[in-house]
Amino acid sequence: MKNDLPFSIIKQPAAVLRKKARRIKRVTDEHRLILEKMVAAMKKSKGMGLAGPQVGLDLQIAVVDTGEGLLKIINPSIVKKDGYDTMDEACLSVPNALVRVKRSGRITVKYTDEWGKQATRIFVGLTAKAIQHEVDHLNGRLIVDYQPWYKRIFKQ
Ligand SMILES: [Zn+2]
Repeated sequence: MKNDLPFSIIKQPAAVLRKKARRIKRVTDEHRLILEKMVAAMKKSKGMGLAGPQVGLDLQIAVVDTGEGLLKIINPSIVKKDGYDTMDEACLSVPNALVRVKRSGRITVKYTDEWGKQATRIFVGLTAKAIQHEVDHLNGRLIVDYQPWYKRIFKQ
């Protein structure tokens, strides 16, 4: 890995955005550096979240910051979902698209933190939606997949 270069954001279409990212077996300094660089790239692009595949990394790693505190998340899995909430979402990898996405309003997430510690936390509102958006990225899913079929076909 070229440590000195800042991350640039991969845009659709790119194969890395469409595959399930690999789990991280052991969290190391390299992952902590990746997370730091992802935070920098997210802030620079004024995003609320960024996932590994968006910077070309086939790794289950993501950062989220909706204004409620910075989160660094590794190997996340959503173990419980409650309620529904719909919002128009944007994505740094899908420029100029705003897609209405229905997500859960409250989620319980199991993940590993940047120090390799297991955590289980409940998130609500905007942060819950941002995490679901990033987990989608780690599964190769993009906001355009939520568009109704006619919008996908006619590119409206
Ligand atoms: Zn995105």
